[in-house]
Amino acid sequence: MTQVTIIGAGVAGLCTARVLLDRGMRVHLIDRARQPGPQGCSWWAGGMLAPFCEGESAEEPVIRLGQRAADWWG
Ligand SMILES: Cc1cc2nc3c(=O)[nH]c(=O)nc-3n(C[C@H](O)[C@H](O)[C@H](O)COP(=O)(O)OP(=O)(O)OC[C@H]3O[C@@H](n4cnc5c(N)ncnc54)[C@H](O)[C@@H]3O)c2cc1C
Repeated sequence: MTQVTIIGAGVAGLCTARVLLDRGMRVHLIDRARQPGPQGCSWWAGGMLAPFCEGESAEEPVIRLGQRAADWWG
């Protein structure tokens, strides 16, 4: 079984861990604070997926990829 180590338990690390676990990999998630928390951006309103609000000013890829991410989140 493939084993992957991920450094950082913010939204990026947690999402990556989820995807790899779904693919049957063994995941070791390390965070210097030991768990998700206020040390990371993700704790502070980070990672809100709002592709349609972003659409007022963002480029097309931001909206398209944001929509894909929102679908995946569900
Ligand atoms: C106030 C605020 C509002 C925001 N609003 C939005 C928004 O509405 N929409 C949006 O898309 N983005 C938003 N962002 C940006 C978004 O929060 C970040 O892009 C995203 O959370 C980053 O996620 P991350 O997992 O990369 O990093 P983080 O969430 O910062 O997680 C990094 C983790 O790695 C750990 N770490 C770091 N270095 C090491 C190391 N050497 N060894 C072990 N662990 C380590 C940290 O302890 C931390 O837990 C916002 C950011 C802020 C601050």
